[in-house]
Amino acid sequence: MSDALLRRPELLRSEALIGGRWEDSGARYDVLNPATGACLAEVAMHGADAATHAVDAASAALPSWSSLSAGERAAILRRWHDLILDNAEDLARLMTAEQGKPLAEARGEVAYAASFLAWFAEEARRVYGTVIPGNAPGRRLTVIRQPVGVVAAITPWNFPAAMITRKVAPALAVGCTVVLKPSELTPLSALALACLGAEAGVPAGVFNVVSGDAPAIGEVLTGDPRVRKFSFTGSTPVGKMLAAKCMATVKRVSLELGGNAPFIVFDDADIDAAVAGAIASKFRNSGQTCVCANRFLVQDGIYDRFAAALARKVGLLNAGDGLAGSADQGPLINAEAVAKVERHRVDAVERGARILAQGQVSGPSQGHFARAALLVDVAPESLLAREETFGPLAGLIRFDHEEEAIRLANDTPAGLAAYIFTADHGRATRVSEALEYGMVGLNTGLISTEVAPFGGVKESGFGREGSRFGIDDYVSMKLIAAEIAPA
Ligand code: ADP
Repeated sequence: MSDALLRRPELLRSEALIGGRWEDSGARYDVLNPATGACLAEVAMHGADAATHAVDAASAALPSWSSLSAGERAAILRRWHDLILDNAEDLARLMTAEQGKPLAEARGEVAYAASFLAWFAEEARRVYGTVIPGNAPGRRLTVIRQPVGVVAAITPWNFPAAMITRKVAPALAVGCTVVLKPSELTPLSALALACLGAEAGVPAGVFNVVSGDAPAIGEVLTGDPRVRKFSFTGSTPVGKMLAAKCMATVKRVSLELGGNAPFIVFDDADIDAAVAGAIASKFRNSGQTCVCANRFLVQDGIYDRFAAALARKVGLLNAGDGLAGSADQGPLINAEAVAKVERHRVDAVERGARILAQGQVSGPSQGHFARAALLVDVAPESLLAREETFGPLAGLIRFDHEEEAIRLANDTPAGLAAYIFTADHGRATRVSEALEYGMVGLNTGLISTEVAPFGGVKESGFGREGSRFGIDDYVSMKLIAAEIAPA
């Protein structure tokens, strides 16, 4: 990668960070720019040994880190937050180069990633315990909340920075130490964050990053008994498989897995708000978010008007190199992702759907671009409606009445995010409460913020990230039941 990409070229790291040292390995792998196919960096290919060394380092660092005061840890997290913002432009450019999202979106993600550090620096000071009235004379019942211990985190490529800080910030805030395995497709953002963490004063061994052979590293992180907590964001099959391995040593587990978000538009919806919400929810990050609208359920009376209004917007979407500045959308992460979108489109059309609008592609021919598209009259049994498409393909399904919308919306093993557009307060309340989802956007397509709990139900996982509840996944409750001798 050309040094001109970054103001501070030293933020481009290619080794693992283990125990405060940058560790190379015998082998390397290429990190590619999905918009151009260019090689950005050759990153050290680590495996089980490096993962074990990282767990050694995290275990060794745990006693001193957890015995700092919350205020001391908070000050370091706050400095890390400030350094991320000071270097936001470099981090955004690095992210766009390795992940593809347009620079404006990458800047937004960098600010979002930093926000978790600021938030949990504040929450660190409020990990309160409880005193329970005794159950017998002379009894004192005290509950304290302590760091769970060494945390292992595995994160995906779609949000290469924010998915990291929303695990690492609460873990460090309460006194845990962390071994992170970022996606091998986007390790550069993770390593740059680690570099800034060290600069902010995160002590050696408190935050370790190992990238490379995912199954080999995963085997250690899920199997080593010293790891007491495993936090995963990624696909449902991989999450299930890794969580099962964690049970051999009964680790605490948090899972943020795939979604299949319904986006329900009722006849009484504000159509402009619904279209704006649809664009934000479906097409952000080229459709590669786990809270992306995946099924548009649209009531009969508004269906044609909503379809026409959305078609006008989708037709304007232009996919190109995110660094170039004029793209509304970047490339997809790789060729398989483009092939999946194409498979879903063909399947939907074979089952009777029509393409109402398509965007343009202006990126380099080597890039993994997919044209934004809007399909109408999609059959509910289409792949597009049953699986997470993870691409810029919107499909509309028609419904007649409220109960039918709820039934269709809940007819999936997933339960992460859902969206409702309606002006009727009673309906908004009824439907929000009936949806089997961890998060509901009501007249909005944007639900993610560091101050609110993010997470799913059913096969979308468990645990919550962000908000004051985000602390709970990284602390264990301890009861101290004391018998006080009479005077
Ligand atoms: P996605 O579809 O988002 O790529 P994955 O579940 O494949 O979802 O990837 C999410 C994270 O899980 C990435 O960091 C990836 O490297 C990791 N991962 C994938 N397979 C394994 C595995 N067998 N063991 C450990 N980590 C894995």
